[in-house]
Amino acid sequence: MINIVLFGKPGAGKGTQAEFLKEKYNLIHISTGDVFRYNLKNDTELGKKARTYMDNGDLVPDALTIQMLQDEVEKHPDTKGFLFDGFPRTLAQADALDEFLKSKNWEVTATVALEADDNILVQRLLERGKTSGRPDDQDEEKIRNRYQEYNEKTAPLTEYYNRQNKFHPVNGIGSIAEITERLSNVIDNL
Ligand code: ADP
Repeated sequence: MINIVLFGKPGAGKGTQAEFLKEKYNLIHISTGDVFRYNLKNDTELGKKARTYMDNGDLVPDALTIQMLQDEVEKHPDTKGFLFDGFPRTLAQADALDEFLKSKNWEVTATVALEADDNILVQRLLERGKTSGRPDDQDEEKIRNRYQEYNEKTAPLTEYYNRQNKFHPVNGIGSIAEITERLSNVIDNL
C-alpha cells in the first residue's frame, strides 16, 4: 500500500501530474476539487452545500470535505494505493486522514509538494480560466482569496508532515515531463 499526498498551491500542476503518476504507480486518484465539481454539475445535496464556498474561492467546511473523502476511499477497498490531490488542506483534515487510514492499518506514505512562485501561478490560473469555465479561475480577487486560504490554512501542513519526515518539496517550474521525473524520483526512493 502506498498513499501519496500531492501538495501544492492552486495552479501548481497537481491535476496534470496526477494523471501521469496514477498510471505509473497504479494508484487511485482522488481529487477533492474534481469530486466537488462533479457534485455541483449534478446538483447533488453535497453540491448544493459546497457551491457558494467554491465559487468564492473559500474552502468547503471540513466536516463535509472529510466525509466526502472517506466515501471516495471506501469505494476502492482493493487498491494498491491512493493519490490524494487537494486533500488534506487543513490541519483538521490532515488529522482526520491519519486517523482514518490508521483505522485500516494504512498510513500516508509521503507528501510531495509542487512549488512555484505565486505570481506565475496566478497568471496560469487566469489563462486556465479563459477555457476551463471555472468561475473561481476567472476573477483575480477570487484567485487571491484561494492563496490567502492556502497560506492561512494549508501552509501549516508543511510543518505537520515535516515533523513526520514525510514532506518532499519538488520544483514545480519546468516542462511537464521534467516535473513528472522529479516527482517520480522522490516516489521511487521512498
Ligand atoms: P485549486 O487547487 O485550483 O484551488 P481544486 O480543484 O483542488 O482547485 O479545488 C477547487 C475548490 O474546491 C477549492 O477552492 C475549495 O472550495 C474546494 N475544495 C477542494 N478541496 C478541498 C478541501 N480539501 N477542503 C476544502 N475545500 C476544498
